[in-house]
Amino acid sequence: MKILVLNSGSSSVKYQFIDVKNRSILAKGVIDRVGMSDSVVTHERYDGDKVKISAEVLDHQTAIEYVLAVLLSKNHGVIQDKSEIEAVGHRVVHGGESFSESVLIDDRVMNEIRENIELAPLHNPHNLRGIQAVLKHLPGTPQVAVFDTAFHQKMPPQAFLYGIPYLLYRRYKIRRYGFHGTSHFYVSQKVAELLGKPISELKIITAHLGNGCSMAAVDRGVSVDTTMGFTPLEGLLMGTRSGDLDPSIILHVVGREGLSLAEANTLLNKHSGLLGISGLTSDMREIVSEKKAGNRQAELAFQVFSYRVKKYIGAYAAAMGGLDALVFTGGIGENSPDVRAESCRDLSFLGIEVDEARNNSGEKDKPISSDASRVKVYALPTNEELVIALDTMRIVESHKD
Ligand code: ADP
Repeated sequence: MKILVLNSGSSSVKYQFIDVKNRSILAKGVIDRVGMSDSVVTHERYDGDKVKISAEVLDHQTAIEYVLAVLLSKNHGVIQDKSEIEAVGHRVVHGGESFSESVLIDDRVMNEIRENIELAPLHNPHNLRGIQAVLKHLPGTPQVAVFDTAFHQKMPPQAFLYGIPYLLYRRYKIRRYGFHGTSHFYVSQKVAELLGKPISELKIITAHLGNGCSMAAVDRGVSVDTTMGFTPLEGLLMGTRSGDLDPSIILHVVGREGLSLAEANTLLNKHSGLLGISGLTSDMREIVSEKKAGNRQAELAFQVFSYRVKKYIGAYAAAMGGLDALVFTGGIGENSPDVRAESCRDLSFLGIEVDEARNNSGEKDKPISSDASRVKVYALPTNEELVIALDTMRIVESHKD
């Protein structure tokens, strides 16, 4: 089955056209600067043919038109007719408490996604626009929603409730949801596969460290806790997000600096994290190179980042009462031996021992832990698009007559 996977964000639409049976990517690309007059379509075909087109993509409807046009294009495309797109899988950020797994999209599902907009005002409206655009341009093609929050929906109440009046949970659904679920699911399954053991026998910690960062405790295949919370702001330090902080800080800073709530929100989401501490950059590559060149602020940002990962490794080993595997993924987790080494430093009491040469080798699919390490540590690429495509195929096939 050939499936179009769409990730419709506020200013970009990413796509992959996947032949699921062969697990091969036929084409992929991104439309950047959606909503602006100087948008760019970047498209790549399976054979390496690449094209970059300047365009004016003012909305998601137009973005989807471009995706279809480039897939159908004579010179750069991979299909002759729209009907070759057998289904569309969408990444949807917030499924709230309504969805603990992927679903076939119908009017009811679209309404539920709409109802969850107040939980994810920066994401769900754009995801919904992507769905509506497909409905218009590919009417009759089945669409599936795969939620970032779904994998974490089995968390027990002690992990998802905050210490505020229960009424606020009942009234406004304020609780931990967690995000990056598709990635945590994929890498936990992948590790079980690499270890040659059923996931039902494993306690795994997954660390998705990209621009956004989160960790999850995956106990026998179930996410039992995760660092991101009501929004993707909580938990680890991130590129520009603060992660955990004492809520009183917000009240204090708002008062001292005379900030509006919108400005406080921008401060915590856009000016904090690695960027905020270093005063330089949100990019971990630059943080590491500046730190090595002796920059003290970059060193501090690196230390705070890695220390938090380490703290949550300890916390989640405790939460699960043991640990068999630890997996790093995302741009930083997959590619930064420095962050992995620092996050795992002095954790041999938990059975975690990273082997320096293996950690630096950049090799995937083999553990970066020493042979003596009781916990197997891996650095793996994630593949959220494949999970979305597989779920889409499974759901569409299960609805066929
Ligand atoms: P997103 O969350 O937007 O998908 P990515 O998963 O691509 O982002 O992660 C982006 C982060 O990965 C950036 O901080 C970038 O510096 C970092 N990164 C990518 N390659 C490396 C590397 N070789 N060493 C350290 N950090 C890296």
